[in-house]
Amino acid sequence: MAFSYQRSSALFQEAKKYIPGGVNSPVRAFNAVGGDPVFVEKAKGAYLQTEDGHQIIDYIASWGPMILGHAFEPVVEAVIKATEKGTSYGMPTALETEIAKLAVSMAPNVDQIRMVNSGTEACMSAVRLARGFTGRDKIIKFAGCYHGHSDSFLIQAGSGAVTFGSPNSPGVTQGTAKDTLLAQYNNLDQVEEIFKKNEGEIACVIIEPIAGNMGCIVPENGFLEGIRSLCDEHGALFIFDEVMTGFRLARGGAQETTGVKADIVTYGKVIGGGLPVGAFAARQEIMNHLAPLGPVYQAGTLSGNPLAMSAGMAMLTHLNNHPEIYDSLAAKTEYLHKGIDSVLSDKGIDYKINRYGSMMSVHFTDQDVVDFSSAATGNNEWFRKFFHGLLERGIYLPPSAFESYFLNDALSYEDLDKTIEASREVVSSW
Ligand code: PMP
Repeated sequence: MAFSYQRSSALFQEAKKYIPGGVNSPVRAFNAVGGDPVFVEKAKGAYLQTEDGHQIIDYIASWGPMILGHAFEPVVEAVIKATEKGTSYGMPTALETEIAKLAVSMAPNVDQIRMVNSGTEACMSAVRLARGFTGRDKIIKFAGCYHGHSDSFLIQAGSGAVTFGSPNSPGVTQGTAKDTLLAQYNNLDQVEEIFKKNEGEIACVIIEPIAGNMGCIVPENGFLEGIRSLCDEHGALFIFDEVMTGFRLARGGAQETTGVKADIVTYGKVIGGGLPVGAFAARQEIMNHLAPLGPVYQAGTLSGNPLAMSAGMAMLTHLNNHPEIYDSLAAKTEYLHKGIDSVLSDKGIDYKINRYGSMMSVHFTDQDVVDFSSAATGNNEWFRKFFHGLLERGIYLPPSAFESYFLNDALSYEDLDKTIEASREVVSSW
């Protein structure tokens, strides 16, 4: 029997009266796939329990943070303990130094880290720091990459910004937009050309080293290395937006797995253990420009919040002590990839599956998905049917083709088999 989500629909109707679109972040609203979003009552391990009373398998993990599964005990205990001691002080704590020390020991090429409250804040601050450090205004970003919803990044942005048909958001001024220069992902020649045309004006290149906001897209050999050289040649900083990949792909994130060195790295998601945390890190010479040491201003009332830092500390400590988790996650992701691959190839339809570590995405297209334009060739009708077919069978995938799956360590091979079997059922009726 197909799962029905009637109570979720009723809750959504009520939510729409008081919250714009019924949600506090657009992709949750299911616009790309149609239908009403599923409301969650609670979650444990690899499963979400919906308000309809169904237990469903989760492939989003809160868009990345819940890498160890939901309600992971050491994280929950740490937060409870911290809560009893007060929820915010607005004064320094020893814990902030502890997590900073651990984070910079795990992340390559950085000496210091500053905590903020979201990935958006982290990227926005990283760019300000790069501009302050270089004394230049322009930045290069890639079509389909998402770096949060601050003005300079809402130019051909991925994730919800594409899903909602407004990659260039109203409200972003021409003045701001003109300083964001766009290149296609995996197109090094274009980056080189932009550098040449704007000699001495580029402060930084910001990139998702493994893209996750136009589905999962892997950098081709030499692409990141080439940008690194261009940045060095032209005196620009290279910012890795590791909000998705940081502490997820490896202890040292994409810097470790790709071997490419970034000047500033942004974090979010995993670093907060599911609480609202972002961070940016760099070597001392760059961080010295940040207030209160230097003139580049950046601040936050709740930054370094004790609950958030406790959750992050418990999460990072576990990952640091159990790096084998990364191999097991990658193995599970490969297993799921191969399973869905065999289902779709047996069916004989056009598809491409991209995967890197514990991130993957299924694109219903005959083209290789290497950038935003190729990601956009996906057949949305098939995507919609695949998504809803699985949801009816108790499996929750990202509700847009411009998002990545995030596997979590609590997923069992039985869960993966169920998912593969369910996909076989779904496509068999097409
Ligand atoms: N950068 C990347 C790569 C992201 O995926 C996201 C969010 N999905 C952000 C930045 C923004 O983070 P937040 O939603 O926490 O503001």
